[in-house]
Amino acid sequence: MPERPDLETDFENRMVSPDTLPEDRDFSLRPKTMDQYIGQQKVKENLSVFMEAASQRGDCLDHVLLYGPPGLGKTTLAGIIANTLDVNLRVTSGPAIEKPGDLAALLTNLGDRDLLFIDEIHRLSRSVEEILYPAMEDYALDIIIGKGPSARSIRLDLPRFTLVGATTRAGQMTAPLRDRFGVVMRLELYSPEELTQIITQSARILEIPCDEEGAMELARRSRGTPRIANRLLKRVRDFAQVLGEGIITREIAATALQRLEVDELGLDTIDRRVLSTIIQNYAGGPVGLETLAAAVGEESVTLEDMCEPFLMQIGFLSKTPRGRVVTALAYRHLGLPPPGDIPEQMSLHTQE
Ligand code: ADP
Repeated sequence: MPERPDLETDFENRMVSPDTLPEDRDFSLRPKTMDQYIGQQKVKENLSVFMEAASQRGDCLDHVLLYGPPGLGKTTLAGIIANTLDVNLRVTSGPAIEKPGDLAALLTNLGDRDLLFIDEIHRLSRSVEEILYPAMEDYALDIIIGKGPSARSIRLDLPRFTLVGATTRAGQMTAPLRDRFGVVMRLELYSPEELTQIITQSARILEIPCDEEGAMELARRSRGTPRIANRLLKRVRDFAQVLGEGIITREIAATALQRLEVDELGLDTIDRRVLSTIIQNYAGGPVGLETLAAAVGEESVTLEDMCEPFLMQIGFLSKTPRGRVVTALAYRHLGLPPPGDIPEQMSLHTQE
């Protein structure tokens, strides 16, 4: 069924937004050890080896870059690394470091082997980045004293530290910054089985009764993202309390999410609006990102970070050199007959 564009949904507060909403600030759900951190097997195994090796050498861990869509556990992982290595964690973000002096102050306040976490590291300004290069490479801070011909540079030693950078868009980072990370790891969207485990673990911590089928139903609708899974769990708990007997079962989960307009695959009105716009306005595509964003009434970065990774993962949307294209699967999901010449489902390998 086509969506009405006048039915405004607030992107910032959408139920299935992978970005942090106020209700997500529940630190009890954040795993503190590698054992509690579910999924991302390859990342966990490799990181454990690097941490072990660094500890054995009495060295600090090489700088680590974590990238992938929001809500997949990058900040959580930084906390686990700091915990495992038994070092202090300093948390900041690219937009919070406005001037080179802000970063210099952060760096000079670090203790030996401390871990500095910079979220959204692709948003650092060029002048701030330049402070970071010698800091990452030589644990040094170059300061310019004076102006004009008499200006001179002095070098201050910094404590050894590990920088953990996180970004949703590794492609927007400058090459010199990216190259200074010894370890670069991509976090993947989680499988429904992994999300079921995460939901079960969170339900136990929050003491929310939830049976296995209830957890699976929530997992299926969580768009591969633990942050969304935890949010749906908390929201559906209210429905279980009022409509049921306090236990989250498959039926309660399905009814609650239907009321919250999250469909059986985890799509909400915004996703459906994106898909139906491509189908109705652009005959299924291809359509360029900017054009699509304008037609949907959203920023292109928002579409790229919040909608597309999941729509691509479930094979509804594909990125081609000429623009975005929807697949026959998406037509059928919206209850529309797919045109004959449209691909059934894009192979993930054809996507960028
Ligand atoms: P990001 O920094 O990538 O946006 P976060 O680290 O803030 O994501 O993770 C969001 C929430 O999802 C965390 O608070 C945590 O509760 C949960 N979470 C993330 N990854 C995992 C995981 N692998 N296992 C269990 N819970 C997780």
